[in-house]
Amino acid sequence: MVNLDYMIDPGWPYLRLTDDVQLKKKVNKDDTQEINPANFEKTEDMANLTFLNEASVLHNLRQRYYSMMIYTYSGLFLVFVNPYKMLPIYTDSVANMYVNKRRAEMPPHLFAVSDLAYRNMMSEKENQSMLITGESGAGKTENTKKVISYFARIGGSPKEEKAKKSKGSLEDQVVQANPAIEAFGNGATNRNYNSSRYGKFIRIHFSEKGKLVGGDIEHYLLEKSRVIKQAPGERSFHIFYQIMSNEKLRKQFFLDDDIRKYNFVSQAEITVPGMDDTEEYGITDNAFDIMHFEPNEKNDLYKICAAIMHMGNMTFKQKPREEQAEADDLTAATTASKLFEVDMEQFIGALLKPKIKVGMEWVSKGQNIQQVEWAVGALAKAIYARMFGWLIARCNKTLASNPQDSAHWIGVLDIAGFEIFDNNSFEQLWINFVNEKLQQYFNHHMFVLEQEEYKREGIQWEFIDFGLDLQSCIDLIEKPLGIVSMLDEECIVPKASDSSYVDKLHTQHLGKHPNFQKPRPPKGKQGPAHFAIVHYAGTVRYSADSWLDKNKDPLNDSVVAVLKTSDKKNVIYLIWEDYKTEVDREADASRGKTTEKKKGKSGSFMTVSMMYRESLNSLMSMLHQTHPHFIRCIIPNEQKKSGVIEAPLVLNQLTCNGVLEGIRICRKGFPNRMVFKEFKYRYAILAADEASEPDAEAASKKMLEKLSATNKLQLENFKVGSTKVFFKAGILARLEEMRDHA
Ligand code: ATP
Ligand code: MG
Repeated sequence: MVNLDYMIDPGWPYLRLTDDVQLKKKVNKDDTQEINPANFEKTEDMANLTFLNEASVLHNLRQRYYSMMIYTYSGLFLVFVNPYKMLPIYTDSVANMYVNKRRAEMPPHLFAVSDLAYRNMMSEKENQSMLITGESGAGKTENTKKVISYFARIGGSPKEEKAKKSKGSLEDQVVQANPAIEAFGNGATNRNYNSSRYGKFIRIHFSEKGKLVGGDIEHYLLEKSRVIKQAPGERSFHIFYQIMSNEKLRKQFFLDDDIRKYNFVSQAEITVPGMDDTEEYGITDNAFDIMHFEPNEKNDLYKICAAIMHMGNMTFKQKPREEQAEADDLTAATTASKLFEVDMEQFIGALLKPKIKVGMEWVSKGQNIQQVEWAVGALAKAIYARMFGWLIARCNKTLASNPQDSAHWIGVLDIAGFEIFDNNSFEQLWINFVNEKLQQYFNHHMFVLEQEEYKREGIQWEFIDFGLDLQSCIDLIEKPLGIVSMLDEECIVPKASDSSYVDKLHTQHLGKHPNFQKPRPPKGKQGPAHFAIVHYAGTVRYSADSWLDKNKDPLNDSVVAVLKTSDKKNVIYLIWEDYKTEVDREADASRGKTTEKKKGKSGSFMTVSMMYRESLNSLMSMLHQTHPHFIRCIIPNEQKKSGVIEAPLVLNQLTCNGVLEGIRICRKGFPNRMVFKEFKYRYAILAADEASEPDAEAASKKMLEKLSATNKLQLENFKVGSTKVFFKAGILARLEEMRDHA
């Protein structure tokens, strides 16, 4: 133990060494972190900090945030801290200032990274990607919108030309796809009143000359459970409330004025602070027009949402002395069927007595009340999810570019970051797995770039591929006999259960795989868990409850067959067009057809994991064709307050989003660099004779020789390249100190 004086900053989990003594406390020296010299205060790029530690990163971000400098670089990352207030930094004139500027010329900004991506695309003839991640409420979607607008602007037609065009130019469409999709994909949560409940990858296509020619959107992991269930304080997807705010639509779809009558969408909140649903409806409807949706197409979308609300009011009762449910009140079923344009008797019949294959025979099997209610919920969720997919495909149709015109693209990924909750389930496993893959991609990219820089500068240094650090966790999840494949297998084993799955996982991996652990006993509000996975961002306890069901995601095929009897022009038909019910598949098989959509290699149904895996693989292979740019959004506090930083919350995000990981990797190499001229000029005072040599390179080399000969600088702490000197982390601070005292 040493006795040092420290100042403890309120809310600061780390101690900072300072001259300004306010409190005296004995602490272990190992628990302290060094602070950077004053000239690093509020630095624009934290990779320049000579002491790369958590405390100094947090300190720097906080000092900048207090001055509302919300963007900061950290090596390859652009870090954004949500300002929770409108800042005049996204205007056209600011955007213009960033056009064609190099990173060092302007303060850190999203536009700087966007412009770099555009310039790279043009000069390197290479696709680009912008990976925007962060917790819910951190600002991913707001940043995504700004990026898309920036690209629409710089790739768009000049103003004069644009003015001549009617409503709905491609630039408008690229921007307006968002409000149309957000109405259906976003909802209010406690964390964020406009929370995206899905992930997306938007690609903007450009011509050889850099002109905007089209776009396309891919979506991931829609939280469809929200359609039928909302947690306290939350709402379902915005579109339901927008429809309910419009009298004409209510009349047309037989909806009551009182939303509380609709159980699926009114379990918790029905309004959102600062959000006017009538106005929002106008924005959604207008966006559909700009996207060139036909009037019947948008009307069908609203109609399906109304039908879903009616479905939530269908009531059933148990037949006396039988394990079999029957309809109670048919009003809601009648209205829903009317809106779907299907026969009500068939619709309700399929729910109550679906056709199931037993051996070679098709039989109608009665269902008990829980089974029927469950099937209604599953159907509502499936309809909504398919409608969402259709809506995005329809936007893509409008945005489609002529393949000959599209030379390159820039993709923008807006996807939820790493999640560690009190209860983590199947959904968290997938989002965390995606993030593990993205982090690996980052680490590998950083390795490649560093290696190239060292090579260019002729430095002898074996930089390690830190992407490999994450491989073992990724293998545990995705390899044969891993978490996901064992789940898929368990889904086809008769009589299997969540607990038989957990047993098999334990037998396979416990004590054998370093990333698989027994969960620690629950603390505080944590629920029970069945196993834990060591992710790069931390160890996460997972509960495997309902995983078999979540992965199989069963659907009543008979009722889908009824929906497919609707007119072929109706969206409710179109969303199921490519879905093969078991009857369809049998008919296909007897006709010798083998091309089926929702089918795995083995000919069995595809599980949810299989579909997720396919879309993740396709995302990763797209990203691998790009030059990536990484944007990390940070939520400063949980009260949506401007100017308030909760240190532990921010620090935790810096761990989860890989910023600290990036710094850790940096420290293994030579993170600080200085061109010869600057080195000679700044540290001339430490070796005046040597610095008098006019050639900067020769002078620098002599100065370095002198410093190491006098033991002021150890040889292992620096490397001389062909244009600059490279330093290990912390060395520049030592030089600064010597300079101050010289
Ligand atoms: P989720 O994962 O829940 O979708 P998100 O990361 O996409 O979250 P956003 O919806 O982008 O979060 O942002 C949440 C809120 O934060 C916004 O509604 C807005 O109030 C505020 N916000 C985000 N970015 C900015 C910004 N650049 N300027 C001002 N306010 C912002
Ligand atoms: Mg969002």
